[in-house]
Amino acid sequence: MKLLTKQNIVFFCIIAFVFAVSVVSWFIIRNIKIENPVVEIYKNGELTHKIELTSDKLDFTIIDDNSNVIFVGHKVGVIHADCPDKICVNTGFIDSGVFPIICLPNRLEIRITDGENELRLDAVAR
Ligand SMILES: [Zn+2]
Repeated sequence: MKLLTKQNIVFFCIIAFVFAVSVVSWFIIRNIKIENPVVEIYKNGELTHKIELTSDKLDFTIIDDNSNVIFVGHKVGVIHADCPDKICVNTGFIDSGVFPIICLPNRLEIRITDGENELRLDAVAR
């Protein structure tokens, strides 16, 4: 029995396509629900910063933790990093919760969420 027949390849492609559409739809539906998007910055798995993505009061905020410089202002992105791969910088800016920005070497993750996660330093940050 041949596994790589034309029919099998077509069947696999259909399954993969349906799966991809489902995953993307799920993320889009999830993303639509974000009414007041909040930028969450995780360092070593700990939530260290929580900033409103859009705020009338401030145009932008720069967060410099000595390894990643993060821009927040209606969009969020890593504008400078000392990591070797620069994947975080090359990810560019995000303004939705579909994909996070991740810097593996510096153990940094930037997500846009509805802000439901609790920040321990919240009182200090305000
Ligand atoms: Zn990086």
